[in-house]
Amino acid sequence: MTGHADPPVNGEVSFWWHQLGRPAQRPALPRPPSSSSPALECDVAVVGAGYTGLWTAYYLKKADPSLRVVVLEQAFAGYGASGRNGGWLTNEITGGVSGYRDSHGPAAVDAFQLAMDSTVAEVVAVAAAEGIDADVHRGGEHTVARGPAQLARLRELHASMAARAGTDVQWLDAGAAFERIGVAGTSAALWHPHCARIHPAKLVRGLAEAVERLGVEVYEGTRVTEVSPGLARTEVGGVPGDVRARVVVRATEGFTADIPALHRDWLPMNSSMVATAPLPPLVWEAIGWEGRATLGDSAHVYMYAQRTADDRIALGGRGAPYTWGSSTARTTADGRTPERTVEGLRRVLEDFFPVLRQLAPDGRAPLEHAWSGVLAVPRDWHASVGLERAADGTALAWAGGYVGTGVTATNLAGRTLRDLVLGERTPLTELPWVGHRVRRWEPEPLRWLAVHGLYATYRAADAAEARGRTRTSPLAVLAGKVAGHH
Ligand SMILES: Cc1cc2nc3c(=O)[nH]c(=O)nc-3n(C[C@H](O)[C@H](O)[C@H](O)COP(=O)(O)OP(=O)(O)OC[C@H]3O[C@@H](n4cnc5c(N)ncnc54)[C@H](O)[C@@H]3O)c2cc1C
Repeated sequence: MTGHADPPVNGEVSFWWHQLGRPAQRPALPRPPSSSSPALECDVAVVGAGYTGLWTAYYLKKADPSLRVVVLEQAFAGYGASGRNGGWLTNEITGGVSGYRDSHGPAAVDAFQLAMDSTVAEVVAVAAAEGIDADVHRGGEHTVARGPAQLARLRELHASMAARAGTDVQWLDAGAAFERIGVAGTSAALWHPHCARIHPAKLVRGLAEAVERLGVEVYEGTRVTEVSPGLARTEVGGVPGDVRARVVVRATEGFTADIPALHRDWLPMNSSMVATAPLPPLVWEAIGWEGRATLGDSAHVYMYAQRTADDRIALGGRGAPYTWGSSTARTTADGRTPERTVEGLRRVLEDFFPVLRQLAPDGRAPLEHAWSGVLAVPRDWHASVGLERAADGTALAWAGGYVGTGVTATNLAGRTLRDLVLGERTPLTELPWVGHRVRRWEPEPLRWLAVHGLYATYRAADAAEARGRTRTSPLAVLAGKVAGHH
């Protein structure tokens, strides 16, 4: 009845790019005129054409159109997480707020939260101003609890959010929550307005076009092998070339581990998603979800979902979270996702919305696409943005480590990097994530053991809760502490 493809399309970067069609490749950085001369000289060289790199280029050029700004991208703009994510433009602060409260105090946390709230509005406003139709819908965010242990965690989250500025959170009891989104087994939900649903690839594609209109040069198929203050060493078709700039900005997120000198800085973590076929009106009558809020749950290995503009459900979660040796091979293999992960996500869908089983003769929820992407996890799970100047006045700047919440934070990072690059002290450069430093991850096998131990414990805790356990397992809490997650 829905005409879906089964087995679903697997990989091809993401459902979002598959839907739009891959963009024509932009030219690579031209070869240097001679082996001793730089390939290019500019004011700012941005490495990585995801949201971080593109927002940085956008705001720099807006602030000072005379700057020569170039973006160097190994594949194509939006190839990374920015073209693959769940499309939650949310105000959530990566890694939570308790660490910042301890290090900087409650006023700094409030300032950060309010900056994130206004960043949601900023992205929506710039998209409109630049004529980017990114399927934006400001329906807020809905976090559901299923069962007593999740309910207890949701109550704690509610209490901590309600005590802070800028969260505007509402508690929905089981009936009210189910009426908004008919998730089977709903015990309660939280809702807040500071989240919009977007189409990730439409946003990143539009942003790349917007920066080009401003005069930024975007070179694709151009891999950077080394970064340092004032220098980005590139490789195009095996030919090296140096880009010299007053400031180099590293915006490589989950792929940072591929740069040898930065191999253990951030751990590349996989996240996988599936998209259903467009669902018929009868299904939406059963489920509701008219407000099109983004949907997440309170499990340890949580799910996240959106109702797309064309009435599909796009749902994600962790499959195999981490590959030995910080490899990004799965992502560079265009997001191909193991069958086990695809079937795991299909089971989550069916468990949340049993009505989906009625759509196909085989009694399985209809999937059209599955894909994976890579995100960056710092050792303390906190994102950061910063700039360091060398003695000769050149600088190396960076932003990232957003874990699963970078769609909004990348814009705040872009505006903050603008201020840092221009040497201006502003309220943005005072936010607590600026200049935040974190220690490197352990060498293998400790890295592998930490992440796999964490997720094995989380999965066991979720399974025990599904079987009726009413309280959060102390082991899950301990595993989170050991791995630096909480
Ligand atoms: C499946 C998935 C779902 C997610 N869902 C959400 C969500 O719903 N909401 C949310 O807030 N966040 C979500 N995230 C996280 C969010 O997508 C990211 O935090 C955000 O897109 C990061 O943007 P970025 O520009 O920093 O990194 P990326 O988008 O990964 O961009 C980095 C770019 O740098 C390029 N690059 C890397 N290394 C080099 C090099 N050496 N030389 C040249 N170019 C290089 C890459 O090719 C890539 O294009 C999700 C992530 C994934 C993977």
